Amino acid sequence: MQCPECGSTSISKNGRQRGKQNYLCKACRRQFIETYDPPSPYSDEFKRECLKMYANGMGFRSIERVKGVHHTTVITWVI
Ligand SMILES: [Zn+2]
Repeated sequence: MQCPECGSTSISKNGRQRGKQNYLCKACRRQFIETYDPPSPYSDEFKRECLKMYANGMGFRSIERVKGVHHTTVITWVI
């Protein structure tokens, strides 16, 4: 469990909000809920396939056409 703002692990529970556990960072006082990061809509398997295509010399826009994933999304996986 880490603060999404400063990465501190000094977290205290801060009650519940709309059925979700609410947390408070003791370091920066930021409040956040447990499911702060939305899960990626793409699986690791899917990412690996796209990165393999990139490694084989395909451009981002070619990958976008073949896999239906936006090229800027692929770029964030490469860097
Ligand atoms: Zn914090």
